[in-house]
Amino acid sequence: MKITPEQLTKRLKERHISVTPQRLEILKSLMTRYDHPSADNIYQEVRRHLPMISFNTVYKTLETFCQLGLVVKINPLHEVARYDGNVNPHTHLVCTRCHKVLDVDWQWPDEVPLPTLNLADFQATEVAVQIFGLCRKCLAD
Ligand SMILES: [Zn+2]
Ligand SMILES: [Zn+2]
Repeated sequence: MKITPEQLTKRLKERHISVTPQRLEILKSLMTRYDHPSADNIYQEVRRHLPMISFNTVYKTLETFCQLGLVVKINPLHEVARYDGNVNPHTHLVCTRCHKVLDVDWQWPDEVPLPTLNLADFQATEVAVQIFGLCRKCLAD
């Protein structure tokens, strides 16, 4: 998608946050790539244009964008590779605070059919379910 600086500025102004070069670069990066980048991916791209920017600034800006609905944070499992020695069918309980992943012996019912998506460039093979919440330790904190 081609996106102009004016369009980026407008998006920030619509959300009533001040327009800074950092925010513009980060938003541009998010709006022009489709690989669901991590905060680090964004940082690596943005620092080429703004060498003085810190990772912390990028991260905080992304969090702000999430709160403002400019960005959606997807599955925290995708941020860092996670490995599972348990290959039997089971479901994951994912702690949204500490990203701990616990196994639970429960399965999405087999009878649930794959949605008919009619997408030319994607073939659905599986529906995966994860349960998000807080682990016991984070609940106690
Ligand atoms: Zn936790
Ligand atoms: Zn597991």
